[in-house]
Amino acid sequence: MVFVETRGNDGRRPREVTFSQAILNPAASFGGLYAPKSLPTLPLEELLGENYEGLTLKLMELFQIDIERELLREAVALYRRFDDPDNPAPLVQVEEDLSICELYHGPTRAFKDMALQPFGFILSTLARQRGENYLILAATSGDTGPATLEAFKEREGIGVVCLYPAGGTSDVQRLQMVTEEGRNLKVLGIRGDFDDAQSALKSLLSSESFRQTLDRLGIELSAANSVNFGRIIFQTVYHIFSYLELVRRGEIEMGEEIDLIVPSGNFGNALGGYYAKKMGLPVHKIVIASNANNILTELIREGRYDLRGRKLIKTPSPAMDILKSSNVERVLFDKFGPERTRELMEQLDREGFYQLREEEREAIQEDFDGDFVEDREILEIIGEYGSRYLMDPHTATTIKLYRSRRGKRKCVAYSTAEWTKFAPTVLQALTGREGVADREALEEVSRLTGAPIPRVIEELFEKPIVHGKVVDGEEIEGEILHFLGEK
Ligand SMILES: *Cc1c(COP(=O)(O)O)cnc(C)c1O
Repeated sequence: MVFVETRGNDGRRPREVTFSQAILNPAASFGGLYAPKSLPTLPLEELLGENYEGLTLKLMELFQIDIERELLREAVALYRRFDDPDNPAPLVQVEEDLSICELYHGPTRAFKDMALQPFGFILSTLARQRGENYLILAATSGDTGPATLEAFKEREGIGVVCLYPAGGTSDVQRLQMVTEEGRNLKVLGIRGDFDDAQSALKSLLSSESFRQTLDRLGIELSAANSVNFGRIIFQTVYHIFSYLELVRRGEIEMGEEIDLIVPSGNFGNALGGYYAKKMGLPVHKIVIASNANNILTELIREGRYDLRGRKLIKTPSPAMDILKSSNVERVLFDKFGPERTRELMEQLDREGFYQLREEEREAIQEDFDGDFVEDREILEIIGEYGSRYLMDPHTATTIKLYRSRRGKRKCVAYSTAEWTKFAPTVLQALTGREGVADREALEEVSRLTGAPIPRVIEELFEKPIVHGKVVDGEEIEGEILHFLGEK
């Protein structure tokens, strides 16, 4: 598989790169991303007998990526550490025509593990084989941080610095980061909100002195967010696996179309579904669930991406509190080509909006549908299902969208986090009690519903804090240089 750039080529970078190049150096010309030049066709009948690991390996083979088979095998074997060693992404039937694919059975109890576990292993092995050193800088509002730290801890060739807004995450999310040991890991709390953490990171990346120091130390920058295609490739697998699972259970006939309902933020999960559909998976629509930050609903319905006058709204589903959804760009590229994508993305940067043409909007609607869910509805849905199917607030957003489609075709919705990551919200939904701290809320919900609290969550409250520092934006550069061994 060959990768090309979503905004075209600037003449300084190669026009086409391999998978390993695209994941080690994910920054493409003109601020664009790497995307596959073409996609293989899925031999669905042949894949029907594969378990999750086998399916993942078969797909990597179809993609013809330049990673040794043995390395892929080891990477994919990390799924054996998930709750069920044979299946990291179980499908649970919740309604007659709705099954939920649970993507949270990994070490940090959120869907980021599905990709970051194998991807972290591959990236660090490549770095080691090449004798190269990479630094991953991550600003996180919650789930990406823990999963990135967990994926890279004690892995050679990769250092991770994770910035989180002090006071802007849940207790569980914060503890998952600040208790994570590893000589190659550094976690810093930033005074301010997620935007402050992100702008601190941006200004660091544009700092000439910082660049020069990295050069001198022989360290290159990489990325582990979903702009990195190495994440996306592992996020196509479970869409295909869920489909085949429905066929195996006799819920659908091979070839019958289903809908995929995806709680979306940066659009990486949905993009995996889109590529699966392009490869021939019988999907009618990829249905994009949003919260009150409903910019994706507007894009799909009106063909307009409009940041003007919008402010980020804090909701009970914080991993979906996003206005600039980075992977939409890969869909634009796939449908409209590099010139048009560059034009649209530059207009978005410059003027804060773009408007698609009528036929472009229709092209988006061929594959996507979308709607959004208010905070109140999220709580109502969690409350309605109660212990019959305990779900987190992100998962709850998919239920409203399912209800408006019920009876047409079978649906698969994705559960992107375990309830334990958002216990105070879940407790509020179940009992009306507000503002209970994480630890007490965990115990209370577990007592009310009988749902177990996994050890990795319970332990967090006992583990020593190894990254206690909270700093201002301008102190970050010094902190990182110190971590890298400079002065
Ligand atoms: C990251 C995340 C999402 C959003 O996924 P995208 O791929 O960014 O669209 C949804 N829910 C949870 C719990 C997440 O951690």
